[in-house]
Amino acid sequence: MLALRLWSVRHARGLGRLYEFMARLAPLLAPLARWVGLPRTEALLRPVERMAKTTLFDCRMCGQCVLSATGMSCPMNCAKEMRNGPCGGVRTDGRCEVQPDVPCAWVEAGNGTKRIAADHQAHPTPLLPAIDQRRRGASSWIHVLQGRPDPAFQPPVGQRITPESKQGALEQACNSGRFVVTVEVAPPDSAKPAALLARAGLFAGQVDAINITDGAGGNCHMSSVAASAILAAHGHVPVYQIACRDRNRIAIQGDILGAAALGVQNILCLTGDDVSQGDHPQAKPVFDLDAVSLLHIARGMCDRGEYASGRQLQDAPDLFIGATANPFVPPYADRVANLEMKIMAGARFIQTQFCFDLVLFDDFMREVRLRGLHHRAHIIVGVGTLKSAKALDWMARHVPGVHIPPRLLSRIENARDQQREARQVCIETMDALAAMEGVAGIHLMGHKNEDVLAGIIAECDLRKRPRLHTV
Ligand code: SF4
Repeated sequence: MLALRLWSVRHARGLGRLYEFMARLAPLLAPLARWVGLPRTEALLRPVERMAKTTLFDCRMCGQCVLSATGMSCPMNCAKEMRNGPCGGVRTDGRCEVQPDVPCAWVEAGNGTKRIAADHQAHPTPLLPAIDQRRRGASSWIHVLQGRPDPAFQPPVGQRITPESKQGALEQACNSGRFVVTVEVAPPDSAKPAALLARAGLFAGQVDAINITDGAGGNCHMSSVAASAILAAHGHVPVYQIACRDRNRIAIQGDILGAAALGVQNILCLTGDDVSQGDHPQAKPVFDLDAVSLLHIARGMCDRGEYASGRQLQDAPDLFIGATANPFVPPYADRVANLEMKIMAGARFIQTQFCFDLVLFDDFMREVRLRGLHHRAHIIVGVGTLKSAKALDWMARHVPGVHIPPRLLSRIENARDQQREARQVCIETMDALAAMEGVAGIHLMGHKNEDVLAGIIAECDLRKRPRLHTV
């Protein structure tokens, strides 16, 4: 199956042409289909379609086929069922975070679309809504036959500007033109808030916001929504991280409303790590949404005051909505396009994965500036430090999406005081980022390393620096 699937991507150009030909021919058959009856036509088409597409593409019959826009690589083969580009956990060799023996379906999609490059320019990958689970197993060709549009959604036109009176502290800081500093805190394994408040207290008055992770790495902790609400109630500015791994669209939308009602003003939409690396590898991953479809839904709740179903909300939330980006893993060439999709879907600020490789990041930002994306969203870059080269090496090997260049590892390894050297690298990285056009701020991360991060923040005092651009 895998061999045939990869063959189809290698021959994406020919298959793409075949698809175009059939798509043009199909509406001519519509009168015949109507004469036979659409349910009967669908019943006749379904087994033929299943056999052809299963053989060629390892098709899962999602009923909302987008093969022609994804280089003949079926996105349903993605272990997280991502519909809008790769996750941030793709391995350095282009293999899947979850299934290391299989190439990432989205890396393959990139290869396929490049093979049909001319068509790709004309039909860039559309923004796809969350999959309609009712259509699983149904024919997609029946839609082509009826000339119905594909399931892509239109991004909102223009940017919604939140009135200043309704902007939270993080949004105001981002709009102020000065450098922004945020920090990540993991919620505790505790039924009491004391440990969480002690961790957050280290950063009081030092940062613009505190991100609360949502089961990071697939590990269980106090819920992100509850921890964010606790911080908000104690005068902190939380960023409520929402991963798509553990809850479906009904639960997530309910949590967004609950968080807003409890004073949370910032959310970060992410797909989430797989369960396999966490402390509950036997759990069922949900992935009803991906980060892009979650952004679109959250935007709809804020801007149109409605659920994904279209049902109206009594009171719409006013949220500053963010997303993540990972410029440090393959497919490097598609990472800026992926960022653009998230901005089109509604992200107003971006927080990146750990930046240990300034060369790669510089390349990424060059393209970001070329597309003007730094004027459409505030880009806040992830940085961090660990105690030793061994700890950093472990993180690079075991935490999906973290890339640490060998030259950096050996610099720390050869230092007499490795912890001090790693700290120095972090400070140098922050200085370099502060001087880079398009960077709006830094986001410090480091599980159980909060006191070191607080020391770095106090020493560098980056919030006093001006930014080299404004959004
Ligand atoms: S690496 Fe991520 S995007 Fe790629 S196939 Fe695996 S889960 Fe999907």
